[in-house]
Amino acid sequence: MSKTIKEYIEEKVCPVCLKKVEGSGFEEQKVPEMEFGYDEEFIYRKCPFCGSWHLVDIPEDFSNYYHDEYYSLSLTPQLVWKQLNERYTFLKKLIMKAVLKGFSGVAELYANFGKWHGDMNYILALAKLRLLEKMFKKNYKSVLDVGCGTGRFVLLLKLLGFSGEILGIDPYLDQDWVEFGLFKKSLFELNRRFDVVVLNHSLEHFTESPEIVWSKLGEILDDWGALVIRIPCASTHQFYLYKEKTHLFQAPTHTIIYSIEGLLQIAFRNNMVLWDFYNEHSWNSLHSEAYLSGITQKEFSHIKADVKNLHVLKASGVMCFIFIKKNAFEYLRKEYLQKYGLGLKE
Ligand SMILES: [Zn+2]
Repeated sequence: MSKTIKEYIEEKVCPVCLKKVEGSGFEEQKVPEMEFGYDEEFIYRKCPFCGSWHLVDIPEDFSNYYHDEYYSLSLTPQLVWKQLNERYTFLKKLIMKAVLKGFSGVAELYANFGKWHGDMNYILALAKLRLLEKMFKKNYKSVLDVGCGTGRFVLLLKLLGFSGEILGIDPYLDQDWVEFGLFKKSLFELNRRFDVVVLNHSLEHFTESPEIVWSKLGEILDDWGALVIRIPCASTHQFYLYKEKTHLFQAPTHTIIYSIEGLLQIAFRNNMVLWDFYNEHSWNSLHSEAYLSGITQKEFSHIKADVKNLHVLKASGVMCFIFIKKNAFEYLRKEYLQKYGLGLKE
């Protein structure tokens, strides 16, 4: 049985790479709560081995932080559906559908015209899976969104005519929304498999230990499936630039901020390997600038930001990782790498 995150903390063991840290080996940082401006501080520790950060004083009750003013819970699924239908005119839908079909270059083109927005990141992650489908000679037909909030990703896929099954789960939903495929449920209540499991900015929110979470993710992912993780990442320029004022912390809701190395290690221990990763376009740098000026996330949402500089968006510290199972990777290695004489031996 895996340990709880509290046990790892008490034993001075990094909950991500599981290495014991002697003496004062952990770097500690006090991080202010900056979503709502509660005038609170939380202690985070950085592992000297893998570079991941973890929250030390995890609150017993998070209801003060996840409520209807929290950004991903602030609308109802009906309102999200209405908003999406209004936003996506014929042409916009066409662009998004092209990206979903695997023409990811369209997304870059779109970004260069300065019209990038969050929805494109959702779709771009899935576009990256088309190559895997081709290589595995398989169609991904079931998608699970873990920590779906009020369902923007699920509803967007429905709007774009995604033909497979698409479900979202989130323990913080107010109720089941069966008509939209959204369920008030935790990851640990699931007992079936999916072709694609997506975590859109939810992995860093779990209060269960990473080992327990990753073991469950491995259990519900099909042998040929893909695990898509979009997260704030500790191995990024933005993290060093803004330190405790980086929007990547979002204390105390982000309990673990994985480094790339930490992610690779925990995935490998759970029978998965990295297939692809990339830096996303995101507004995070702007939020961090706002934090420096004492502007909370809640206030920021009322400020209209207009950013033309894509480098700012690219230096966001938000990344997308795609993992596949070891056996599937082994298949690819045999089928393709040896075929093309890339020198990998048995
Ligand atoms: Zn570590």
